[in-house]
Amino acid sequence: MRLAVFIFLTVVYPFQLLRPESHREHMNYRDSVDVIRYSVHLTFRNLQDQKLEGFTVIHCIYPGGNQGTFAFDLAGLKVDSVASPVLKNVQFFQEGETIRGTFAGKLTPADTVTLIIYYQGTPLRDKRWGGFFFAGDEAFNYGIGMDAVPPNFGRVWFPCIDNFTDRATYTFHVTVPSGYTAVCNGTLCGIKESEPGYTTWVWEMKQPIPTYLASVAVGRYIRLEGSYQGLQRSIPWQIYCLPEDSLKTARSFQNLTRWMQIFETRFTPYAWDRIGYVIVPFNHGAMEHATNITLARNTVDGTTQFETLYAHELSHHWFGNLVTCASEADMWLNEGWASYCEAIVTEGLYGKQAFRDYVRKNQLEVLVATHVADGGYFPVYGIPHSLTYGSTVYDKGSLVVHNLRGYLGDSLFFDAVKKYLTRYAFRNCSVHEFEQFLSRETRTDLKSFFQFWVYGKGFNDLEIDSVRTSWQDGRWRVSVLINQRLRGTYIPQESVKTEIGVLDSLWKMHVYQVKWTGNPGLLSLDLPFRPLSIILDPDEKTADASVEETKIIEGGGDHFFRASYFSAFNHMSPDSAWVRAEQHFLPPSGRIQKQRNIRLSSERYWRISVVCSPYQNLTGRFFFTRSISEMPEGTTTDALVLLYRKDRRDSWQVLPAQLNGNEQEGFLETTPLRNGYYCIGVKR
Ligand SMILES: [Zn+2]
Repeated sequence: MRLAVFIFLTVVYPFQLLRPESHREHMNYRDSVDVIRYSVHLTFRNLQDQKLEGFTVIHCIYPGGNQGTFAFDLAGLKVDSVASPVLKNVQFFQEGETIRGTFAGKLTPADTVTLIIYYQGTPLRDKRWGGFFFAGDEAFNYGIGMDAVPPNFGRVWFPCIDNFTDRATYTFHVTVPSGYTAVCNGTLCGIKESEPGYTTWVWEMKQPIPTYLASVAVGRYIRLEGSYQGLQRSIPWQIYCLPEDSLKTARSFQNLTRWMQIFETRFTPYAWDRIGYVIVPFNHGAMEHATNITLARNTVDGTTQFETLYAHELSHHWFGNLVTCASEADMWLNEGWASYCEAIVTEGLYGKQAFRDYVRKNQLEVLVATHVADGGYFPVYGIPHSLTYGSTVYDKGSLVVHNLRGYLGDSLFFDAVKKYLTRYAFRNCSVHEFEQFLSRETRTDLKSFFQFWVYGKGFNDLEIDSVRTSWQDGRWRVSVLINQRLRGTYIPQESVKTEIGVLDSLWKMHVYQVKWTGNPGLLSLDLPFRPLSIILDPDEKTADASVEETKIIEGGGDHFFRASYFSAFNHMSPDSAWVRAEQHFLPPSGRIQKQRNIRLSSERYWRISVVCSPYQNLTGRFFFTRSISEMPEGTTTDALVLLYRKDRRDSWQVLPAQLNGNEQEGFLETTPLRNGYYCIGVKR
């Protein structure tokens, strides 16, 4: 699921942290039963009175036997009766969000039990997000209740075992007034007039899914459809929408087959019978119901601006729906991975540059906003209940997947991911199992990576402390001392792997893989050429606490490094320049020369590397904004100064700089732009 794109910048729920975890007491009955199949029969007499009535037939077994009791989850609906074709003397009562009952006799593990539960009422919606909705003359569910414990929200429309681990197949028989369409998971296998004025739509879901992925939507829908020629077979795709939205929908989904090709090639062949979406009148967000993805109507606008949202939900058909997180604590395996699939689909559709822009933009937003939205730094694993669907799991989670890809390299990474999706298909996986599986398959010790990026919080930042270059035996010997600094944590990554980029005189970047244990790391390289510039992670394979971007600047004007909050202005020089801007989200170290009345930014500094002709005067523009809290409340922009030092060992000195902008945002401008470190200070 996805709430909406980047909504976390404005939504904060600090009070949620206080909510107690209270689901443990319910664990027993959910673990004792294995539901094989649900047959959900629903009738909507009309779409205005917001009521449903129906019955669900539950086929289940009790692997440990049963002494004559049963219990299922059902919230907000009233049970009228419970029947069974075999069990005698069935009694029941409802208690909170549970229906409990007894019957005469005992069951062995070999017995299959059938219970028929009749119920009706107005189904619930979650206080925060998800549940069952009636809107206009449509009805639909979102299978997660963000405020609910557990968050699985099948129980608001059928009795079930509502957790991440119990998988079952489904049939749906949904009776609606004639003229309406009912869309559920799986394949449509019949439409019949069941009584005068009513039509029953019958759907069958053959692949087993957990309850939060079950879905129904009712409306006056039409169907856009076609078939996708997949890697192994032809797969039908269907999108249900209102007739007046059909043109917009077709335009927004113009790349659907390409998303499928990208995911099937990167991951495994699509495992489901249908590719399906339904567009409903919800105000924000999407939910990855298996083969029947529900999208809010305002995200289908005839453009492709929300296509990473549609692709995110589709990618859950690998991450989440096919392999499901074993518990809320493991939600990174669903949502962090689906969020990274947004970058994967961008890479497949628009190429490497667009991919880097996507990852970098997310990285910047995580560094600026995630700890604010979530109320602190958290590991992506074992998040508090209230943050299960928060920015840490989604957005930082996406960066962690990116870093894992960088750590392993593409071929090992994608090969292992394919094996994971095959091995755990239609099963659950915990983060610990995932770590073990991946380490085994890649024959790589991932302990230190997982300790830092998955079980640990915050970020590290690799920073070149100093470089020494000497000429020896016809080669250039370069020694690089690398510091690991930390943001939001006190525990460094034990063994580090990265790449060093060395620029030669033809501006070709030579890339060397390096790894070391401990902090700092001292590395040396022997080069057959004189290095013009030395940088870390030239291909941006690790999203750490610094956001960097490299450009070759040609032509006059402003060249904006969006994620580095920096731009280089070229004064009509015919020469080109090589510029790399790194924005480090760490307080600058060191002292200020002479001036005692200036406070250095507590948030960030830049490292600028520039290679250009001696006659070329580039101007550097360093951006500030109130959302980065280096300007204390009450300060005005008059108090801002730009500071510079050539080397990390030097003191900071104030540069003459011109201020542009207003009290909220702007930039400090300096000419010429030089190699070295820059930061913003505030005059006291
Ligand atoms: Zn999602």
